[in-house]
Amino acid sequence: MKIIMLGAPGAGKGTQAKSIAEKYGIPHISTGDIFRANIKNGTELGKKAKAYMDQGMLVPDELTLDLVMDRFAQDDCEKGYVLDGFPRTIPQAEALTEALLEKGEKIDYAIDVAVPDEAIISRMSGRRACLTCGATYHVEFNPPKQEGVCDTCGAALVQRDDDKPETVKKRLSVYHQQTQPLIEYYERQGVLRQVDGTKSMDQVFAGIIEILD
Ligand code: ADP
Ligand code: AMP
Repeated sequence: MKIIMLGAPGAGKGTQAKSIAEKYGIPHISTGDIFRANIKNGTELGKKAKAYMDQGMLVPDELTLDLVMDRFAQDDCEKGYVLDGFPRTIPQAEALTEALLEKGEKIDYAIDVAVPDEAIISRMSGRRACLTCGATYHVEFNPPKQEGVCDTCGAALVQRDDDKPETVKKRLSVYHQQTQPLIEYYERQGVLRQVDGTKSMDQVFAGIIEILD
């Protein structure tokens, strides 16, 4: 099963993608996590990506596409995957469609997690991330068992540099300009499904399971 998570930054794509990956036994591929791992490890790609990410801008397509295509080539992608944060532009979506077509494959579902901009700012200011294992928490809606410590791997949780309110506003405007058009793109492909992302995490997941089952 090949699934794309669509939605604004902070809509809950990563949260839901993790649950989907677990339930259906497919890898969760987050381009944001891959960029953050590169930044943490001080790679050339990480240095280039950070300059864009810190400003709330998208990393250029040519850097992003190489990275994703390399990831798809790994064995664990044979059964499918859930994509979180990719594609984010029409050229990325077209490149993905073409790469799949070459293998006679297609995306099964593009799930749009719909959340209005007003709710996004408070979600992002409370988000805490584990840069070691990629787990995500919220100080109010999904707190870790021990404050500031990842339940899964015990590493220290951080507030992402790009979750500051000024950067979140920029990311939202980039989302509306460059990523929102993907909703129509996947609607035309007949694979778009929408869920109300303002509900609780469990309710959103229940809605997604209904679609996938
Ligand atoms: P995205 O991957 O779309 O950027 P995340 O999954 O990281 O978003 O979620 C953003 C923040 O909102 C996180 O702190 C997460 O714990 C929290 N969150 C996710 N889904 C919900 C929900 N349904 N209700 C309340 N908070 C949520
Ligand atoms: P995310 O973790 O999905 O919120 O992504 C964090 C940041 O990484 C984004 O604001 C972008 O700067 C960058 N990024 C992640 N995925 C992509 C992508 N598919 N295309 C371009 N930039 C991306």
